[in-house]
Amino acid sequence: MEEGAVSVLSAEITKIHVDIHRALKTVSDEVFNSFTDRPPLKDTGHYLSRIKRQAQYTMSPCEEVLTADLGVNGIEAWGRLYDSISGKLEFEMTYPDGRTERLSMSRRRSLMGHSDRRIRIAAFEAGNAAWAQVESVPEAALNAIGGTRLTLNKYRGVDHFLDIALFQAGIMRETLDAMFDAIYSEIDVARNILKSKAGHMNQDCLAWYDFSAPMPIKDQANVSWEEGKSLVKKAFGQSYPDLATYVQSVYDKSWIDWSPRPGKRPGAFCTGSPLSKESRVYMTYNDTMGDVLTLAHELGHAFHGHTMGSARTLARSYPMTLAESASTFGEMLLMRGLLDEPAISNELKAFILNLEISHAAVYLLDIPVRFEFEKAFYEERAEGEIVVSRLKELMVETQRRVVGDVLEDGGEDPYFWASKLHFYITGVTFYN
Ligand SMILES: [Zn+2]
Repeated sequence: MEEGAVSVLSAEITKIHVDIHRALKTVSDEVFNSFTDRPPLKDTGHYLSRIKRQAQYTMSPCEEVLTADLGVNGIEAWGRLYDSISGKLEFEMTYPDGRTERLSMSRRRSLMGHSDRRIRIAAFEAGNAAWAQVESVPEAALNAIGGTRLTLNKYRGVDHFLDIALFQAGIMRETLDAMFDAIYSEIDVARNILKSKAGHMNQDCLAWYDFSAPMPIKDQANVSWEEGKSLVKKAFGQSYPDLATYVQSVYDKSWIDWSPRPGKRPGAFCTGSPLSKESRVYMTYNDTMGDVLTLAHELGHAFHGHTMGSARTLARSYPMTLAESASTFGEMLLMRGLLDEPAISNELKAFILNLEISHAAVYLLDIPVRFEFEKAFYEERAEGEIVVSRLKELMVETQRRVVGDVLEDGGEDPYFWASKLHFYITGVTFYN
C-alpha cells in the first residue's frame, strides 16, 4: 500500500512538470539560453534542455494532468499488481532426493545457478508451472502497460515507441543500431562461449536454465555474507582505497537489505535519496559467488551516488546507460582484485573468471532477446491485445533466433516474459 501512496506523490511531481513543459514548449532557444544562464540556475542547463525537448512531445496541460492522475490507478497500478504477485508467488521445489519445499520466486534464481542440472530443471519447471497458474495476471499487466504507452505516444506525437527509450537512455538511434550491429556481427563469440561451456558440462547444447550454471571447475565453497562483504571491500581497496572506505561505511550503517526471506521480491537494485544524499541496496544474498558479484555491482551504483556529493538535485539525474557504467566498473574492480589476490586459489580464480565470461555470453544473448521480444511485442500490441499463447510463442521464437543452435531444442523459456520483472517497470521502457 505504501507503493500506492508513492505513486500518488509521483503523479503530483509529474503535474509540476506539466507546468514546466507548458512554459518551455514554445520558448525560443535565445530566451531559453538566457534563462538557464542565470546564476541561480547554474548547473541545470543539461537537465532543463532535456525537459525542453520532452516538452515538444506533450498533450495539452489539462490532458497531461488527467493522464498523471489516471496513471496512479492505471499503468502504475498494473506495475504494482505485478510486483505483488511476483513477491507472493511460490513454487513447489522437488529435490533429486525427493524432498519437497515451498519456495518464493526470489530463491529460484540461485537454484538456476546450481551445479546439479536436476536441481536447475526442477526449479525451472516448477517455477514456470507456478507462473502458468497465474499467467493471466502478467498477460493483462503487460498488455495494459504497453497499450497505455502506445496510446500516449499517439496523442503526444511521438513517432516511434523506441524514441521514448532512446530519450530515457540518453542515446541516439545510431548508437543503439551500432551497438546491435556490433553484437550481431560477432554473435558467434557469445554462442561459442556457450558451446564450449556445454562441452565442459558433457552436453551438446544448453537450455535456458543452464545459462547461469557454474562450470564443473571445482565445487565452489559457500561464501558467507561476512566473507562476501570482505572480499568486495578488499578487492575495491586494492584499486581504489576511497571506494573501500565508502563501502565500509555502507556496511557499518547497514544500508544493504541482503537477507533471504519468504515473500521477498527477486532482483537487486540500488536507490538513492537526493534529500539525504544516501543510497540503499536491495538484494537477496544466498551465499554464492554470483551474489558477491551482485554486491559489487550494486555498491558501484551506490558509490556513483556518493561521488555526486553536494551536486544540486537538478544536476543529479543520469540515464541508465551511465548508471550501468558505474556498476560494471564495480564488477570489474572485484574481478581484478580477486584475480590479483594471492590468498585465493587458482581453482577459485578459474571459477570466478568463468563466471565473468559466462556473464558476458549471457548478456550478449539475453539482453538482445529481451530487446527483440519487447520491440516485437510493441509492434504487435499496436494492432491489439496479445494473448498468452502468442507471448509464449514470441518469446520462444526470439530466444531461438538470437541464441541460435547452441540453445537446446525445447530448452527455451516460454514464460520469460512473465518471470522477468524488467518488463513491468512502469517508469522506464525497454528496461534491459
Ligand atoms: Zn545495475
